[in-house]
Amino acid sequence: MRVAVVGGGIAGLTAALELGDRGHDVVVLEGSARVGGKLRSGEVGGVGLDLGAESLLARRPEATDLARRVGLGDRLTHPEAVPAAIWTRGALRPLPPTVMGVPADLDALVASGIVSDAVESRSLPAPDHDVSVAEFVASRVGQEVVDRLVEPLLGGVYAGHADRLSLRAAAPQIAALAPDLVASASASRASATADGPVFAGIVGGVGTLPQAVAEASGADIRTGTTVRAIHQHGDGWRLAAGAVGAVQSFDVDAVVVATPAPATARLLAEVAPDAAFALAAVDYASMALTTFVFDEVLDLPGSGFLVPPVDGTTIKAATFSSTKWAWLAESGRTVLRASVGRAGETQALQVDDATLVAAVLADLRSAVGSLPEPADHHVQRWGGGLPQYDVGHLDRIATVDASVAGVRGLEVCGAAHRGVGIPAVIASAQEAVSRLLDEAGE
Ligand SMILES: Cc1cc2nc3c(=O)[nH]c(=O)nc-3n(C[C@H](O)[C@H](O)[C@H](O)COP(=O)(O)OP(=O)(O)OC[C@H]3O[C@@H](n4cnc5c(N)ncnc54)[C@H](O)[C@@H]3O)c2cc1C
Repeated sequence: MRVAVVGGGIAGLTAALELGDRGHDVVVLEGSARVGGKLRSGEVGGVGLDLGAESLLARRPEATDLARRVGLGDRLTHPEAVPAAIWTRGALRPLPPTVMGVPADLDALVASGIVSDAVESRSLPAPDHDVSVAEFVASRVGQEVVDRLVEPLLGGVYAGHADRLSLRAAAPQIAALAPDLVASASASRASATADGPVFAGIVGGVGTLPQAVAEASGADIRTGTTVRAIHQHGDGWRLAAGAVGAVQSFDVDAVVVATPAPATARLLAEVAPDAAFALAAVDYASMALTTFVFDEVLDLPGSGFLVPPVDGTTIKAATFSSTKWAWLAESGRTVLRASVGRAGETQALQVDDATLVAAVLADLRSAVGSLPEPADHHVQRWGGGLPQYDVGHLDRIATVDASVAGVRGLEVCGAAHRGVGIPAVIASAQEAVSRLLDEAGE
């Protein structure tokens, strides 16, 4: 079968690898000049590092398995066991044990000074419909826990807001904590500690994974090839792709669309209108990652910190990357990165790079005390970086699935669907390929 994969992010590349391994002829059409999407390597001040995603959830097998499959197994690593903090109420405070911000130890929470008042946990029955993460948590452990713990932890994954994000789609780990959230979080942490490290990384950066997957797939990879339209054509499909004025046609038997929701919605408008309509409603958060390299080895507190939105800072998180990753420490320099931007808050991003960098450095200096001038810095903007799984997201995606299932030789996958983390995105691509091959009777 000849298959076109639209989008060369980790979803599209995984689909290409799965199809290539089963002997299919695959062309990957990627609009930008490079594959990888939100996974991107770069160099700042002569240090090779990640400019996008930098860690893999290791409690799910898909990402680490994929890295091994494409020859990166001996470069898999884990972050150093250095504690993180919350920068709130004027100080860096130790992050107490939580399940996505739900405290597992109320004494540790109060001792951290993150909340101003004692917290009480109320047992309530689980809701029979989807609600926001904020509604669920605030009614059980109070608004301050939402504001100062759940918001920064959710913000780290979705760059979103707890009062909009869906409990079921964005925080299934919290939804599973019932009826007493704190007791349940405590039990869940105790059993999880036995399961080994939570996160993994790749020496050289997670951004090296896409190229390795692309090469292993054996697919024909066409960068700079934006897909503009897809149509059913005879028994198969015809895609129109490329620069305006130089549009090429690709005739294939099947199509896997692995683009962010706005692009997928445009491409499916004619062939699967219900799916297109549902995907058009998925909002995205834009963000920027600023990376600083210092010539000195700085003594920084812990592995980094998260900031609750209520504290009104420019940065929402900072990672002391050369403390977190031993392979970066080997550079003999300090690498620090900070992120800016949450869903619906584009103001902080609507400034030039120099203004953004000055605001970020000012925040970092307030948080950690003095910092010398960096030897180099880099600003990576991620417009439309992270899909927002608002309340009702799973119903929206069920509509997408039903609509696409009715169209022969068409599949969709990627971060807009059932998980934004790299392992979930890889799984979505693998499931899309399984459905396609089932339909083809393989
Ligand atoms: C800054 C940032 C940090 C993150 N950090 C982490 C992390 O540490 N760990 C983690 O697990 N997850 C992280 N994530 C989330 C994760 O990286 C993404 O969810 C995942 O990489 C998305 O993969 P994807 O293939 O679905 O989409 P994308 O990576 O968005 O790839 C889609 C591709 O489609 C292309 N495209 C779009 N339209 C067209 C078209 N019409 N024709 C052809 N090509 C098109 C795009 O150019 C892009 O290359 C992070 C996300 C961001 C933004």
